Amino acid sequence: MLHYKKEKELILEEFSVDPNTGLSPKQVINQREVYGENKLPEEAEDPYWKVFLKNFKEPIVIVLLGAVVLSFLSSYYAFQIQNDPKHGVEALYEAIAILILILINACLGFWQEISARKSLNALKEMNNRQTTVLRDGQWQKIVATELVVGDIVRAQVGDFVEADVRWIEANELQVIESHLTGEADAIQKTTEVITETVEVGDRINMGFSGSTVSNGQGIGVVVGVGKDTELGNIAQLIQSVGSKKSPLQNTVSQLTKTLMLISGGIVVLTFIVGIIRAGEFSIDSITSVLSTSIALAVASIPDALPAVLSIVLTIGAAKMAKNKGLIKSLTSVETLGGTSYICSDKTGTLTKNEMTVVKFTANGTSYDVTGLGYAPKGSIKVLSDQKTNAQPFLYGAVLCNEATVKEVDGDYKPFGNPTEVALTVLGQKANVRKNDLLENETIIRTLPFTSDRKMMSVVIQNQDGYMLYTKGAPDVVLNQSQGVLVADKIDTRDHAKQQFNQTVEEYAEKALRTLAVAYRPLTKEQAMEASVEELEQELILTGVAGIIDPAREEVKESIKVLHEANVEVVMITGDHEKTARAIAYELGIVNDKQAPVIKGVELEEMTDDELFEKVKTTNVYARVSPEHKQRIVKQLQAHGEVVAMTGDGVNDAPALRVADIGIAMGIAGTEVTKDSADLILLDDKFTTIEKSVQSGRTIYGNIKNFMRHELTTNVAEVLSLLIGLFFFTHTIGNVPGSTPVLTALMVLWVNMVSDAVPSFSLGYDVAESDIMKEQPRDPKESVLANYTWSRVLIRGTVMGLVVFAAFYLAAKAGMSSNEAQTVAFLTLVYGQLWHVFDARSSKTLFRRNPFGNPRLLLAVGFAAISSFLVTIIPFFNTVMGTAPLTLPIYMMVIFIPALPTFVLSGIKEVFGIKIW
Ligand code: ATP
Repeated sequence: MLHYKKEKELILEEFSVDPNTGLSPKQVINQREVYGENKLPEEAEDPYWKVFLKNFKEPIVIVLLGAVVLSFLSSYYAFQIQNDPKHGVEALYEAIAILILILINACLGFWQEISARKSLNALKEMNNRQTTVLRDGQWQKIVATELVVGDIVRAQVGDFVEADVRWIEANELQVIESHLTGEADAIQKTTEVITETVEVGDRINMGFSGSTVSNGQGIGVVVGVGKDTELGNIAQLIQSVGSKKSPLQNTVSQLTKTLMLISGGIVVLTFIVGIIRAGEFSIDSITSVLSTSIALAVASIPDALPAVLSIVLTIGAAKMAKNKGLIKSLTSVETLGGTSYICSDKTGTLTKNEMTVVKFTANGTSYDVTGLGYAPKGSIKVLSDQKTNAQPFLYGAVLCNEATVKEVDGDYKPFGNPTEVALTVLGQKANVRKNDLLENETIIRTLPFTSDRKMMSVVIQNQDGYMLYTKGAPDVVLNQSQGVLVADKIDTRDHAKQQFNQTVEEYAEKALRTLAVAYRPLTKEQAMEASVEELEQELILTGVAGIIDPAREEVKESIKVLHEANVEVVMITGDHEKTARAIAYELGIVNDKQAPVIKGVELEEMTDDELFEKVKTTNVYARVSPEHKQRIVKQLQAHGEVVAMTGDGVNDAPALRVADIGIAMGIAGTEVTKDSADLILLDDKFTTIEKSVQSGRTIYGNIKNFMRHELTTNVAEVLSLLIGLFFFTHTIGNVPGSTPVLTALMVLWVNMVSDAVPSFSLGYDVAESDIMKEQPRDPKESVLANYTWSRVLIRGTVMGLVVFAAFYLAAKAGMSSNEAQTVAFLTLVYGQLWHVFDARSSKTLFRRNPFGNPRLLLAVGFAAISSFLVTIIPFFNTVMGTAPLTLPIYMMVIFIPALPTFVLSGIKEVFGIKIW
């Protein structure tokens, strides 16, 4: 029989679970064995061998493999037909060397994919959803996938229902099940048994995996987990951590494709020119020319670029997570770097969320309260001349309240909503405790707090009848009230309300958070039947509390840093306008004590166009509801801003989705907001947003730097080779005309070793010192915009000319072909090793400490020494076509190629020319 048709007691009995203690650890193990885990089947990851082999499907590798085949053929031809063992051995070595490079490339690709997968899995794990379960008599938070059939779970506003459950308790519980039914409205849940057969959407005593709780709270017993849930039936995979490609990765793969086409052109061109110059059209000339031209063309592609890019992005994301900013997709790393607006809520993010009542007015009398923190220590001092009975206010404050404060080893620990904790502590200071009151009164209904209503109420029954206690934002409660209790009399005159409002404003101007308390006598029928709206009206105000919620110290500094970085900070809060402005002023969000504040009601009356006009000059929004946040984000985006927005409540999820970077609180945030966020602050601190923006900018800057460096090398290589082919048609000195400026293996060496290794360490560079002093990046701008291309082309061209000139002069001086090629090779290697120090600055070489990145120094040292070694070790001489040089020549090829970099940077520094 279906679960919704069964009495709840029957289900509890079926799973042998006591609803007061939950399952025992032994039962949990047993149930998991019988019913399985609470996991939906995931797409299996590719096994390691498949990941490794995938690298051989890359177009670059296929072309290189073509070159290997041709080299083998050429070697065979030389040995067997031409009887030319020297050429045969050379061709054989070339084939083997290219094969080794293909293998190294595959290993690099494999390592990159595996480490990216590991980091992403680690991020995924950190992002596992939590749920509240009763086990062994204790309510505890566990990872949702650990739920088993028979578990007793509790879900409240902002939680996901993590398995299929039969509700056994429901308090104003409303749930959204649109993922199953398509119905966007919340559905009220009950615990009553249903006798007829009904569709999923009408099974109102059941909760389904993946639904969100939009109101109230419920307790349920799990009846289905994993693939046995309704969600499992439709096999919808919910994957929170995406590994989709970022725009930057798309740009790079596009760029690589374009460059491959260009190199295709070069292959054909080199081939034709080679054949013409060889002067004959024989198999021999075709094989030798073709293998060289293919290898050259492929080597001109920045092969290491995609691998380096994805490693840098993933490692960047992992680093950010270590700094408490958990990012959910690589795209966000880039977007963060371009953030120009941060909209943050106040309570808990900008303030400490450690609340204490320091003032209150009750029954017409004002009081000051001493003693900060949660200990019930402190005095309550009357400020007015006459003292009235504060009980109506205090009773409401502690009864309409779900928080508790417990003493643990002399320490007072708060449990529950901080605003309510503050009222509980006030009650204790005044000797009014909820548990004592409950001896004579019973709470028969609780209408939970929502950010939309900004109120919370309870319905009480006692020997005198029924009563409603409400607490909430004073302006909202005032709107719903008929009068104010002053000296035990209900004053319904406007004057009394004005007086009350004045007190509220006085508190707010002192940056205090305000909360009003009210009551209303009810009839039995009202108490039992009336809706929330019907109940929360005709209230009688008993008083208002002024609560201090200190600003977080470190936020001030973060806001200063962000302002310097030209990132605007906006406060969007549900709190009172004056409290909001006072705190915004204290934190430096606004510089004017009278800065404009837009209130939620005003927003409602504004058209989108009017808001568009005001949105750039407003930094504080008060008394807003979650729906307003979306409008603010959209209007900022209409101005072309990249908006990051924080949120913690369930209703904030849509705004987080609209924002370019949705930010959720890792500790206080609801599971639903975390799910819609791009960045989760693991420590709930505003400062983490600032740090993440900085990381985003650093990573983006580093990527730009290494791309510039890699591409410059490619331009230099292609150019020097092309000049060699087109203009060098006759013998110079001892070097015959058919000699290329660089051998194919020299180019491969540069691309895969002497250039790739330092480039890679550029990806790990520390931030440039002024990175947080610049304008945010234009999100539409390509990574290659802003003089990147011109820098690449100009520097690449100069370097290409220098390499060719070195080759030419060496030949002219009477060196052998191999020696001249080695001179060209080392000129390129060392020239680029100097250039790398310039590439790591968005400005010039002179603006950065060359010792700031130890990894880079190591990489440069390695590249410099290994490139020297391949010119003196005989094996490499044969394979790569290098030759040992004399000491003066070595000195020249090390230092002379520094000139282009120093001269160009020098001119740039002096004249401020951006184009190079
Ligand atoms: P922020 O939006 O910056 O987090 P906030 O906490 O003030 O600030 P909300 O949670 O929407 O925003 O609260 C809005 C108002 O509702 C508060 O200013 C307070 O007056 C009132 N309020 C907050 N918590 C409760 C509660 N538990 N019961 C009744 N009223 C509350």
